Amino acid sequence: MKFYSTSNRSHQVELSEAVIKGLAPDQGLYMPMEIPVLEEAFLENISDLTFREIGYRVIGALFSTDLTETQIKDLVDHTLSFDAPLVDLEEDVYSLELFHGPTLAFKDFGARFCSKLMSMLIAKSDQKVRVLVATSGDTGSAVANGFLGVEGVEVIILFPKGKVSELQEKQFTTLGQNVTSLEVDGVFDDCQRMVKSAFLDSELNEKLLLTSANSINIARWIPQCLYYFYAFSRLPKKGKKVVFSVPSGNFGNLAAGILAQKMGLPITHFVAATNENKVVPTFLGGEEFAAKPSVQTISNSMDVGNPSNFPRLLALYDFDENRLKTQVSGAFYSDAETIAAIQKVKKKGYTLDPHGAVGYLGLKDFMDANPDYQGVFLETAHPGKFRDVVENALGEKVILPERLAAFLKGEKQVFSMANDFEEFKTFLASLSS
Ligand SMILES: *Cc1c(COP(=O)(O)O)cnc(C)c1O
Repeated sequence: MKFYSTSNRSHQVELSEAVIKGLAPDQGLYMPMEIPVLEEAFLENISDLTFREIGYRVIGALFSTDLTETQIKDLVDHTLSFDAPLVDLEEDVYSLELFHGPTLAFKDFGARFCSKLMSMLIAKSDQKVRVLVATSGDTGSAVANGFLGVEGVEVIILFPKGKVSELQEKQFTTLGQNVTSLEVDGVFDDCQRMVKSAFLDSELNEKLLLTSANSINIARWIPQCLYYFYAFSRLPKKGKKVVFSVPSGNFGNLAAGILAQKMGLPITHFVAATNENKVVPTFLGGEEFAAKPSVQTISNSMDVGNPSNFPRLLALYDFDENRLKTQVSGAFYSDAETIAAIQKVKKKGYTLDPHGAVGYLGLKDFMDANPDYQGVFLETAHPGKFRDVVENALGEKVILPERLAAFLKGEKQVFSMANDFEEFKTFLASLSS
């Protein structure tokens, strides 16, 4: 399979280049040249398959010319090492829980797939890959845990000193092995600038193989389509129209749902649900697309004013904006509405996190107007990850799952670093190639 750049369809690369480079040189996002459509027999019998069996078929359809059957199996097994249960919440309303991975958010799926695939693609070379990540919290933990112990890859995380919550920090600074954390005396933007400078530094790039594992990488994006297939397979009512509501920030998750639909999964409609960072819902409502500075909200993993996967949404509809607007509708919610949703759903005995609450609201509003549907919203994080918000909303404690509590017991190991590229460069230059 070849991949083209959303900025220029004639720029095409092989899988390994798309994964190791991440972004096309013209800053476009990579997209598969052809989207394979799965056989009807697979979709008819999908309820009989396990999550992994679904994974072998879907990933096989996409990557069978690039990877061996054994590699596809290993890749899927490594990625789908935890479940994504579909919880029946109300009549025809389901929560797809994507938080059962090591860092309790859906980004674990993409991070695990990306790390494993990268290690396969570089296995033939004896050069080590260095993954550089600047993080304000959640990306660092998902990438670090995804790459932990993966041979041939070393992860270097830069985070702003004192600006990341203790729980988030512990999820990457306590790991050891092939994960190194650098605590930078600055803010997130400084960390990001240092990482960008490293990618542009010719001396460093001659010596080291540097790469990024940010969310626009196809190896983080594509595996997210798997849980749409799985959720669909577990819906008890066959033949009733299906809508998915996706709480969105950079819109990778929604774009992966549309990818599943293009591969033949009979999803009839999508809801793009956001907080006050509503540039995509505004666009879907008929206005010109216009990026905006991000606004801070309680569903802060979706505080994105210029969504990086927007070109991917357009590419999936062959850059036909009108088709996109008929199959995807937008909805946005205030913090007050989000809190009210957490309180309302708690009365049914279920605890939403603030991101899932936005997805729930988008689904309910769509289904009120379209009662002939059954719907799934993506619950993208465990409520314990955002326990301040949830505890404030509910006036009671949220119990942390054991694996989250276990991180808190680990010992923080970091190198301190000035807010200075030269110091970072000296650190990198001292690593073996
Ligand atoms: C990253 C994130 C999102 C947004 O996902 P996108 O793919 O960027 O739209 C939603 N919820 C949580 C908890 C996240 O971490």
